[in-house]
Amino acid sequence: MSVLQVRRLRVYYGTPAQPVRAVEDVSLEIGEREVVGLVGESGCGKSTLGRGILGLLPEGARADGEVLYGGRNLIGLSPKELRRLRGPDLGLVFQEPMTRLNPLSRISEHFRETLKQHESRLSDAEMRRRSLETLGRMGIPPTRFDQYPHEFSGGMRQRIMIALALVLRPKLLVADEPTTSLDVIVEGQILALLADLKRDFGTALLLITHNLGIVAESCDRIAVMYAGKIVEEGPVRDVFANPAHPYTRELLRSTISLETTELHSIPGAPPNLIDPPPGCRFHPRCPDAMRVCAQLEPVEKRFDQVRRVQCWLHGPESRIPAGGELPLEREAIGVADEA
Ligand code: SF4
Repeated sequence: MSVLQVRRLRVYYGTPAQPVRAVEDVSLEIGEREVVGLVGESGCGKSTLGRGILGLLPEGARADGEVLYGGRNLIGLSPKELRRLRGPDLGLVFQEPMTRLNPLSRISEHFRETLKQHESRLSDAEMRRRSLETLGRMGIPPTRFDQYPHEFSGGMRQRIMIALALVLRPKLLVADEPTTSLDVIVEGQILALLADLKRDFGTALLLITHNLGIVAESCDRIAVMYAGKIVEEGPVRDVFANPAHPYTRELLRSTISLETTELHSIPGAPPNLIDPPPGCRFHPRCPDAMRVCAQLEPVEKRFDQVRRVQCWLHGPESRIPAGGELPLEREAIGVADEA
């Protein structure tokens, strides 16, 4: 059963004459109790996709396509209707807790405000009980309930943010780089807490991260995003063992592990999304680029129900023009020598 279905979602910024195509024709499903990792380099559209799903795009952004939740398309709902869904149905954990917590309000007031907005029928005692119970799960003792945000460490503030999202028992939580800037011990604790969520509350989770180690530990499925598109998707184990897209393979090669003997980085940088390269957007950086890659956008290939890729290496061959399989000259497409 899907909690959320995203179909052909597009998010544009800027002017109609010169749009920044931040998310382009993205489709994605998240099942009940499923943890999906959304990965890619900075500037590939991960956070925009997360915010697009929740209807939290900045002013000036335009979205079209479908974000289906509970039988309704969230695109096109009024801000009021979206606000009603956010919290009890759809939760969000941001990267920087300090920018979301009001420094002048005690933690208890943050909880009271959140619960009052969405569960006004609860008594004060019930609100307090529910808040303390959720904070307790995050390892924050009741003695700290009436403290201010500045009295907590960065890791504790992030746990408070997660608790604030969870106190309403959302069906889907979007966590955008929830452990960035935290040390590895706190990171491990937060990931363990997020894993408990699906077990205890049945929450589905979209985990946005650039850290593949986190995905390996915490996710059921992975969606790899490059230049506004999902280029590969599948079960974490399958994709890690056998990446089908060269970008996924290069990302995995760039991950540092205990076995790492040589550092690897992908040459170049993600493209400017005002004017992305024609054909496959990864072709200027791809060690496997072929002539066809610079000419035509790859067609999605589905290996089975859960595994798909957008890359000409996987066909369909009938769409490749004559001569398209010839490797491009590296100099001609600017792939650095160290690739
Ligand atoms: Fe590389 Fe071509 Fe596949 Fe793009 S379509 S990832 S350029 S091989």
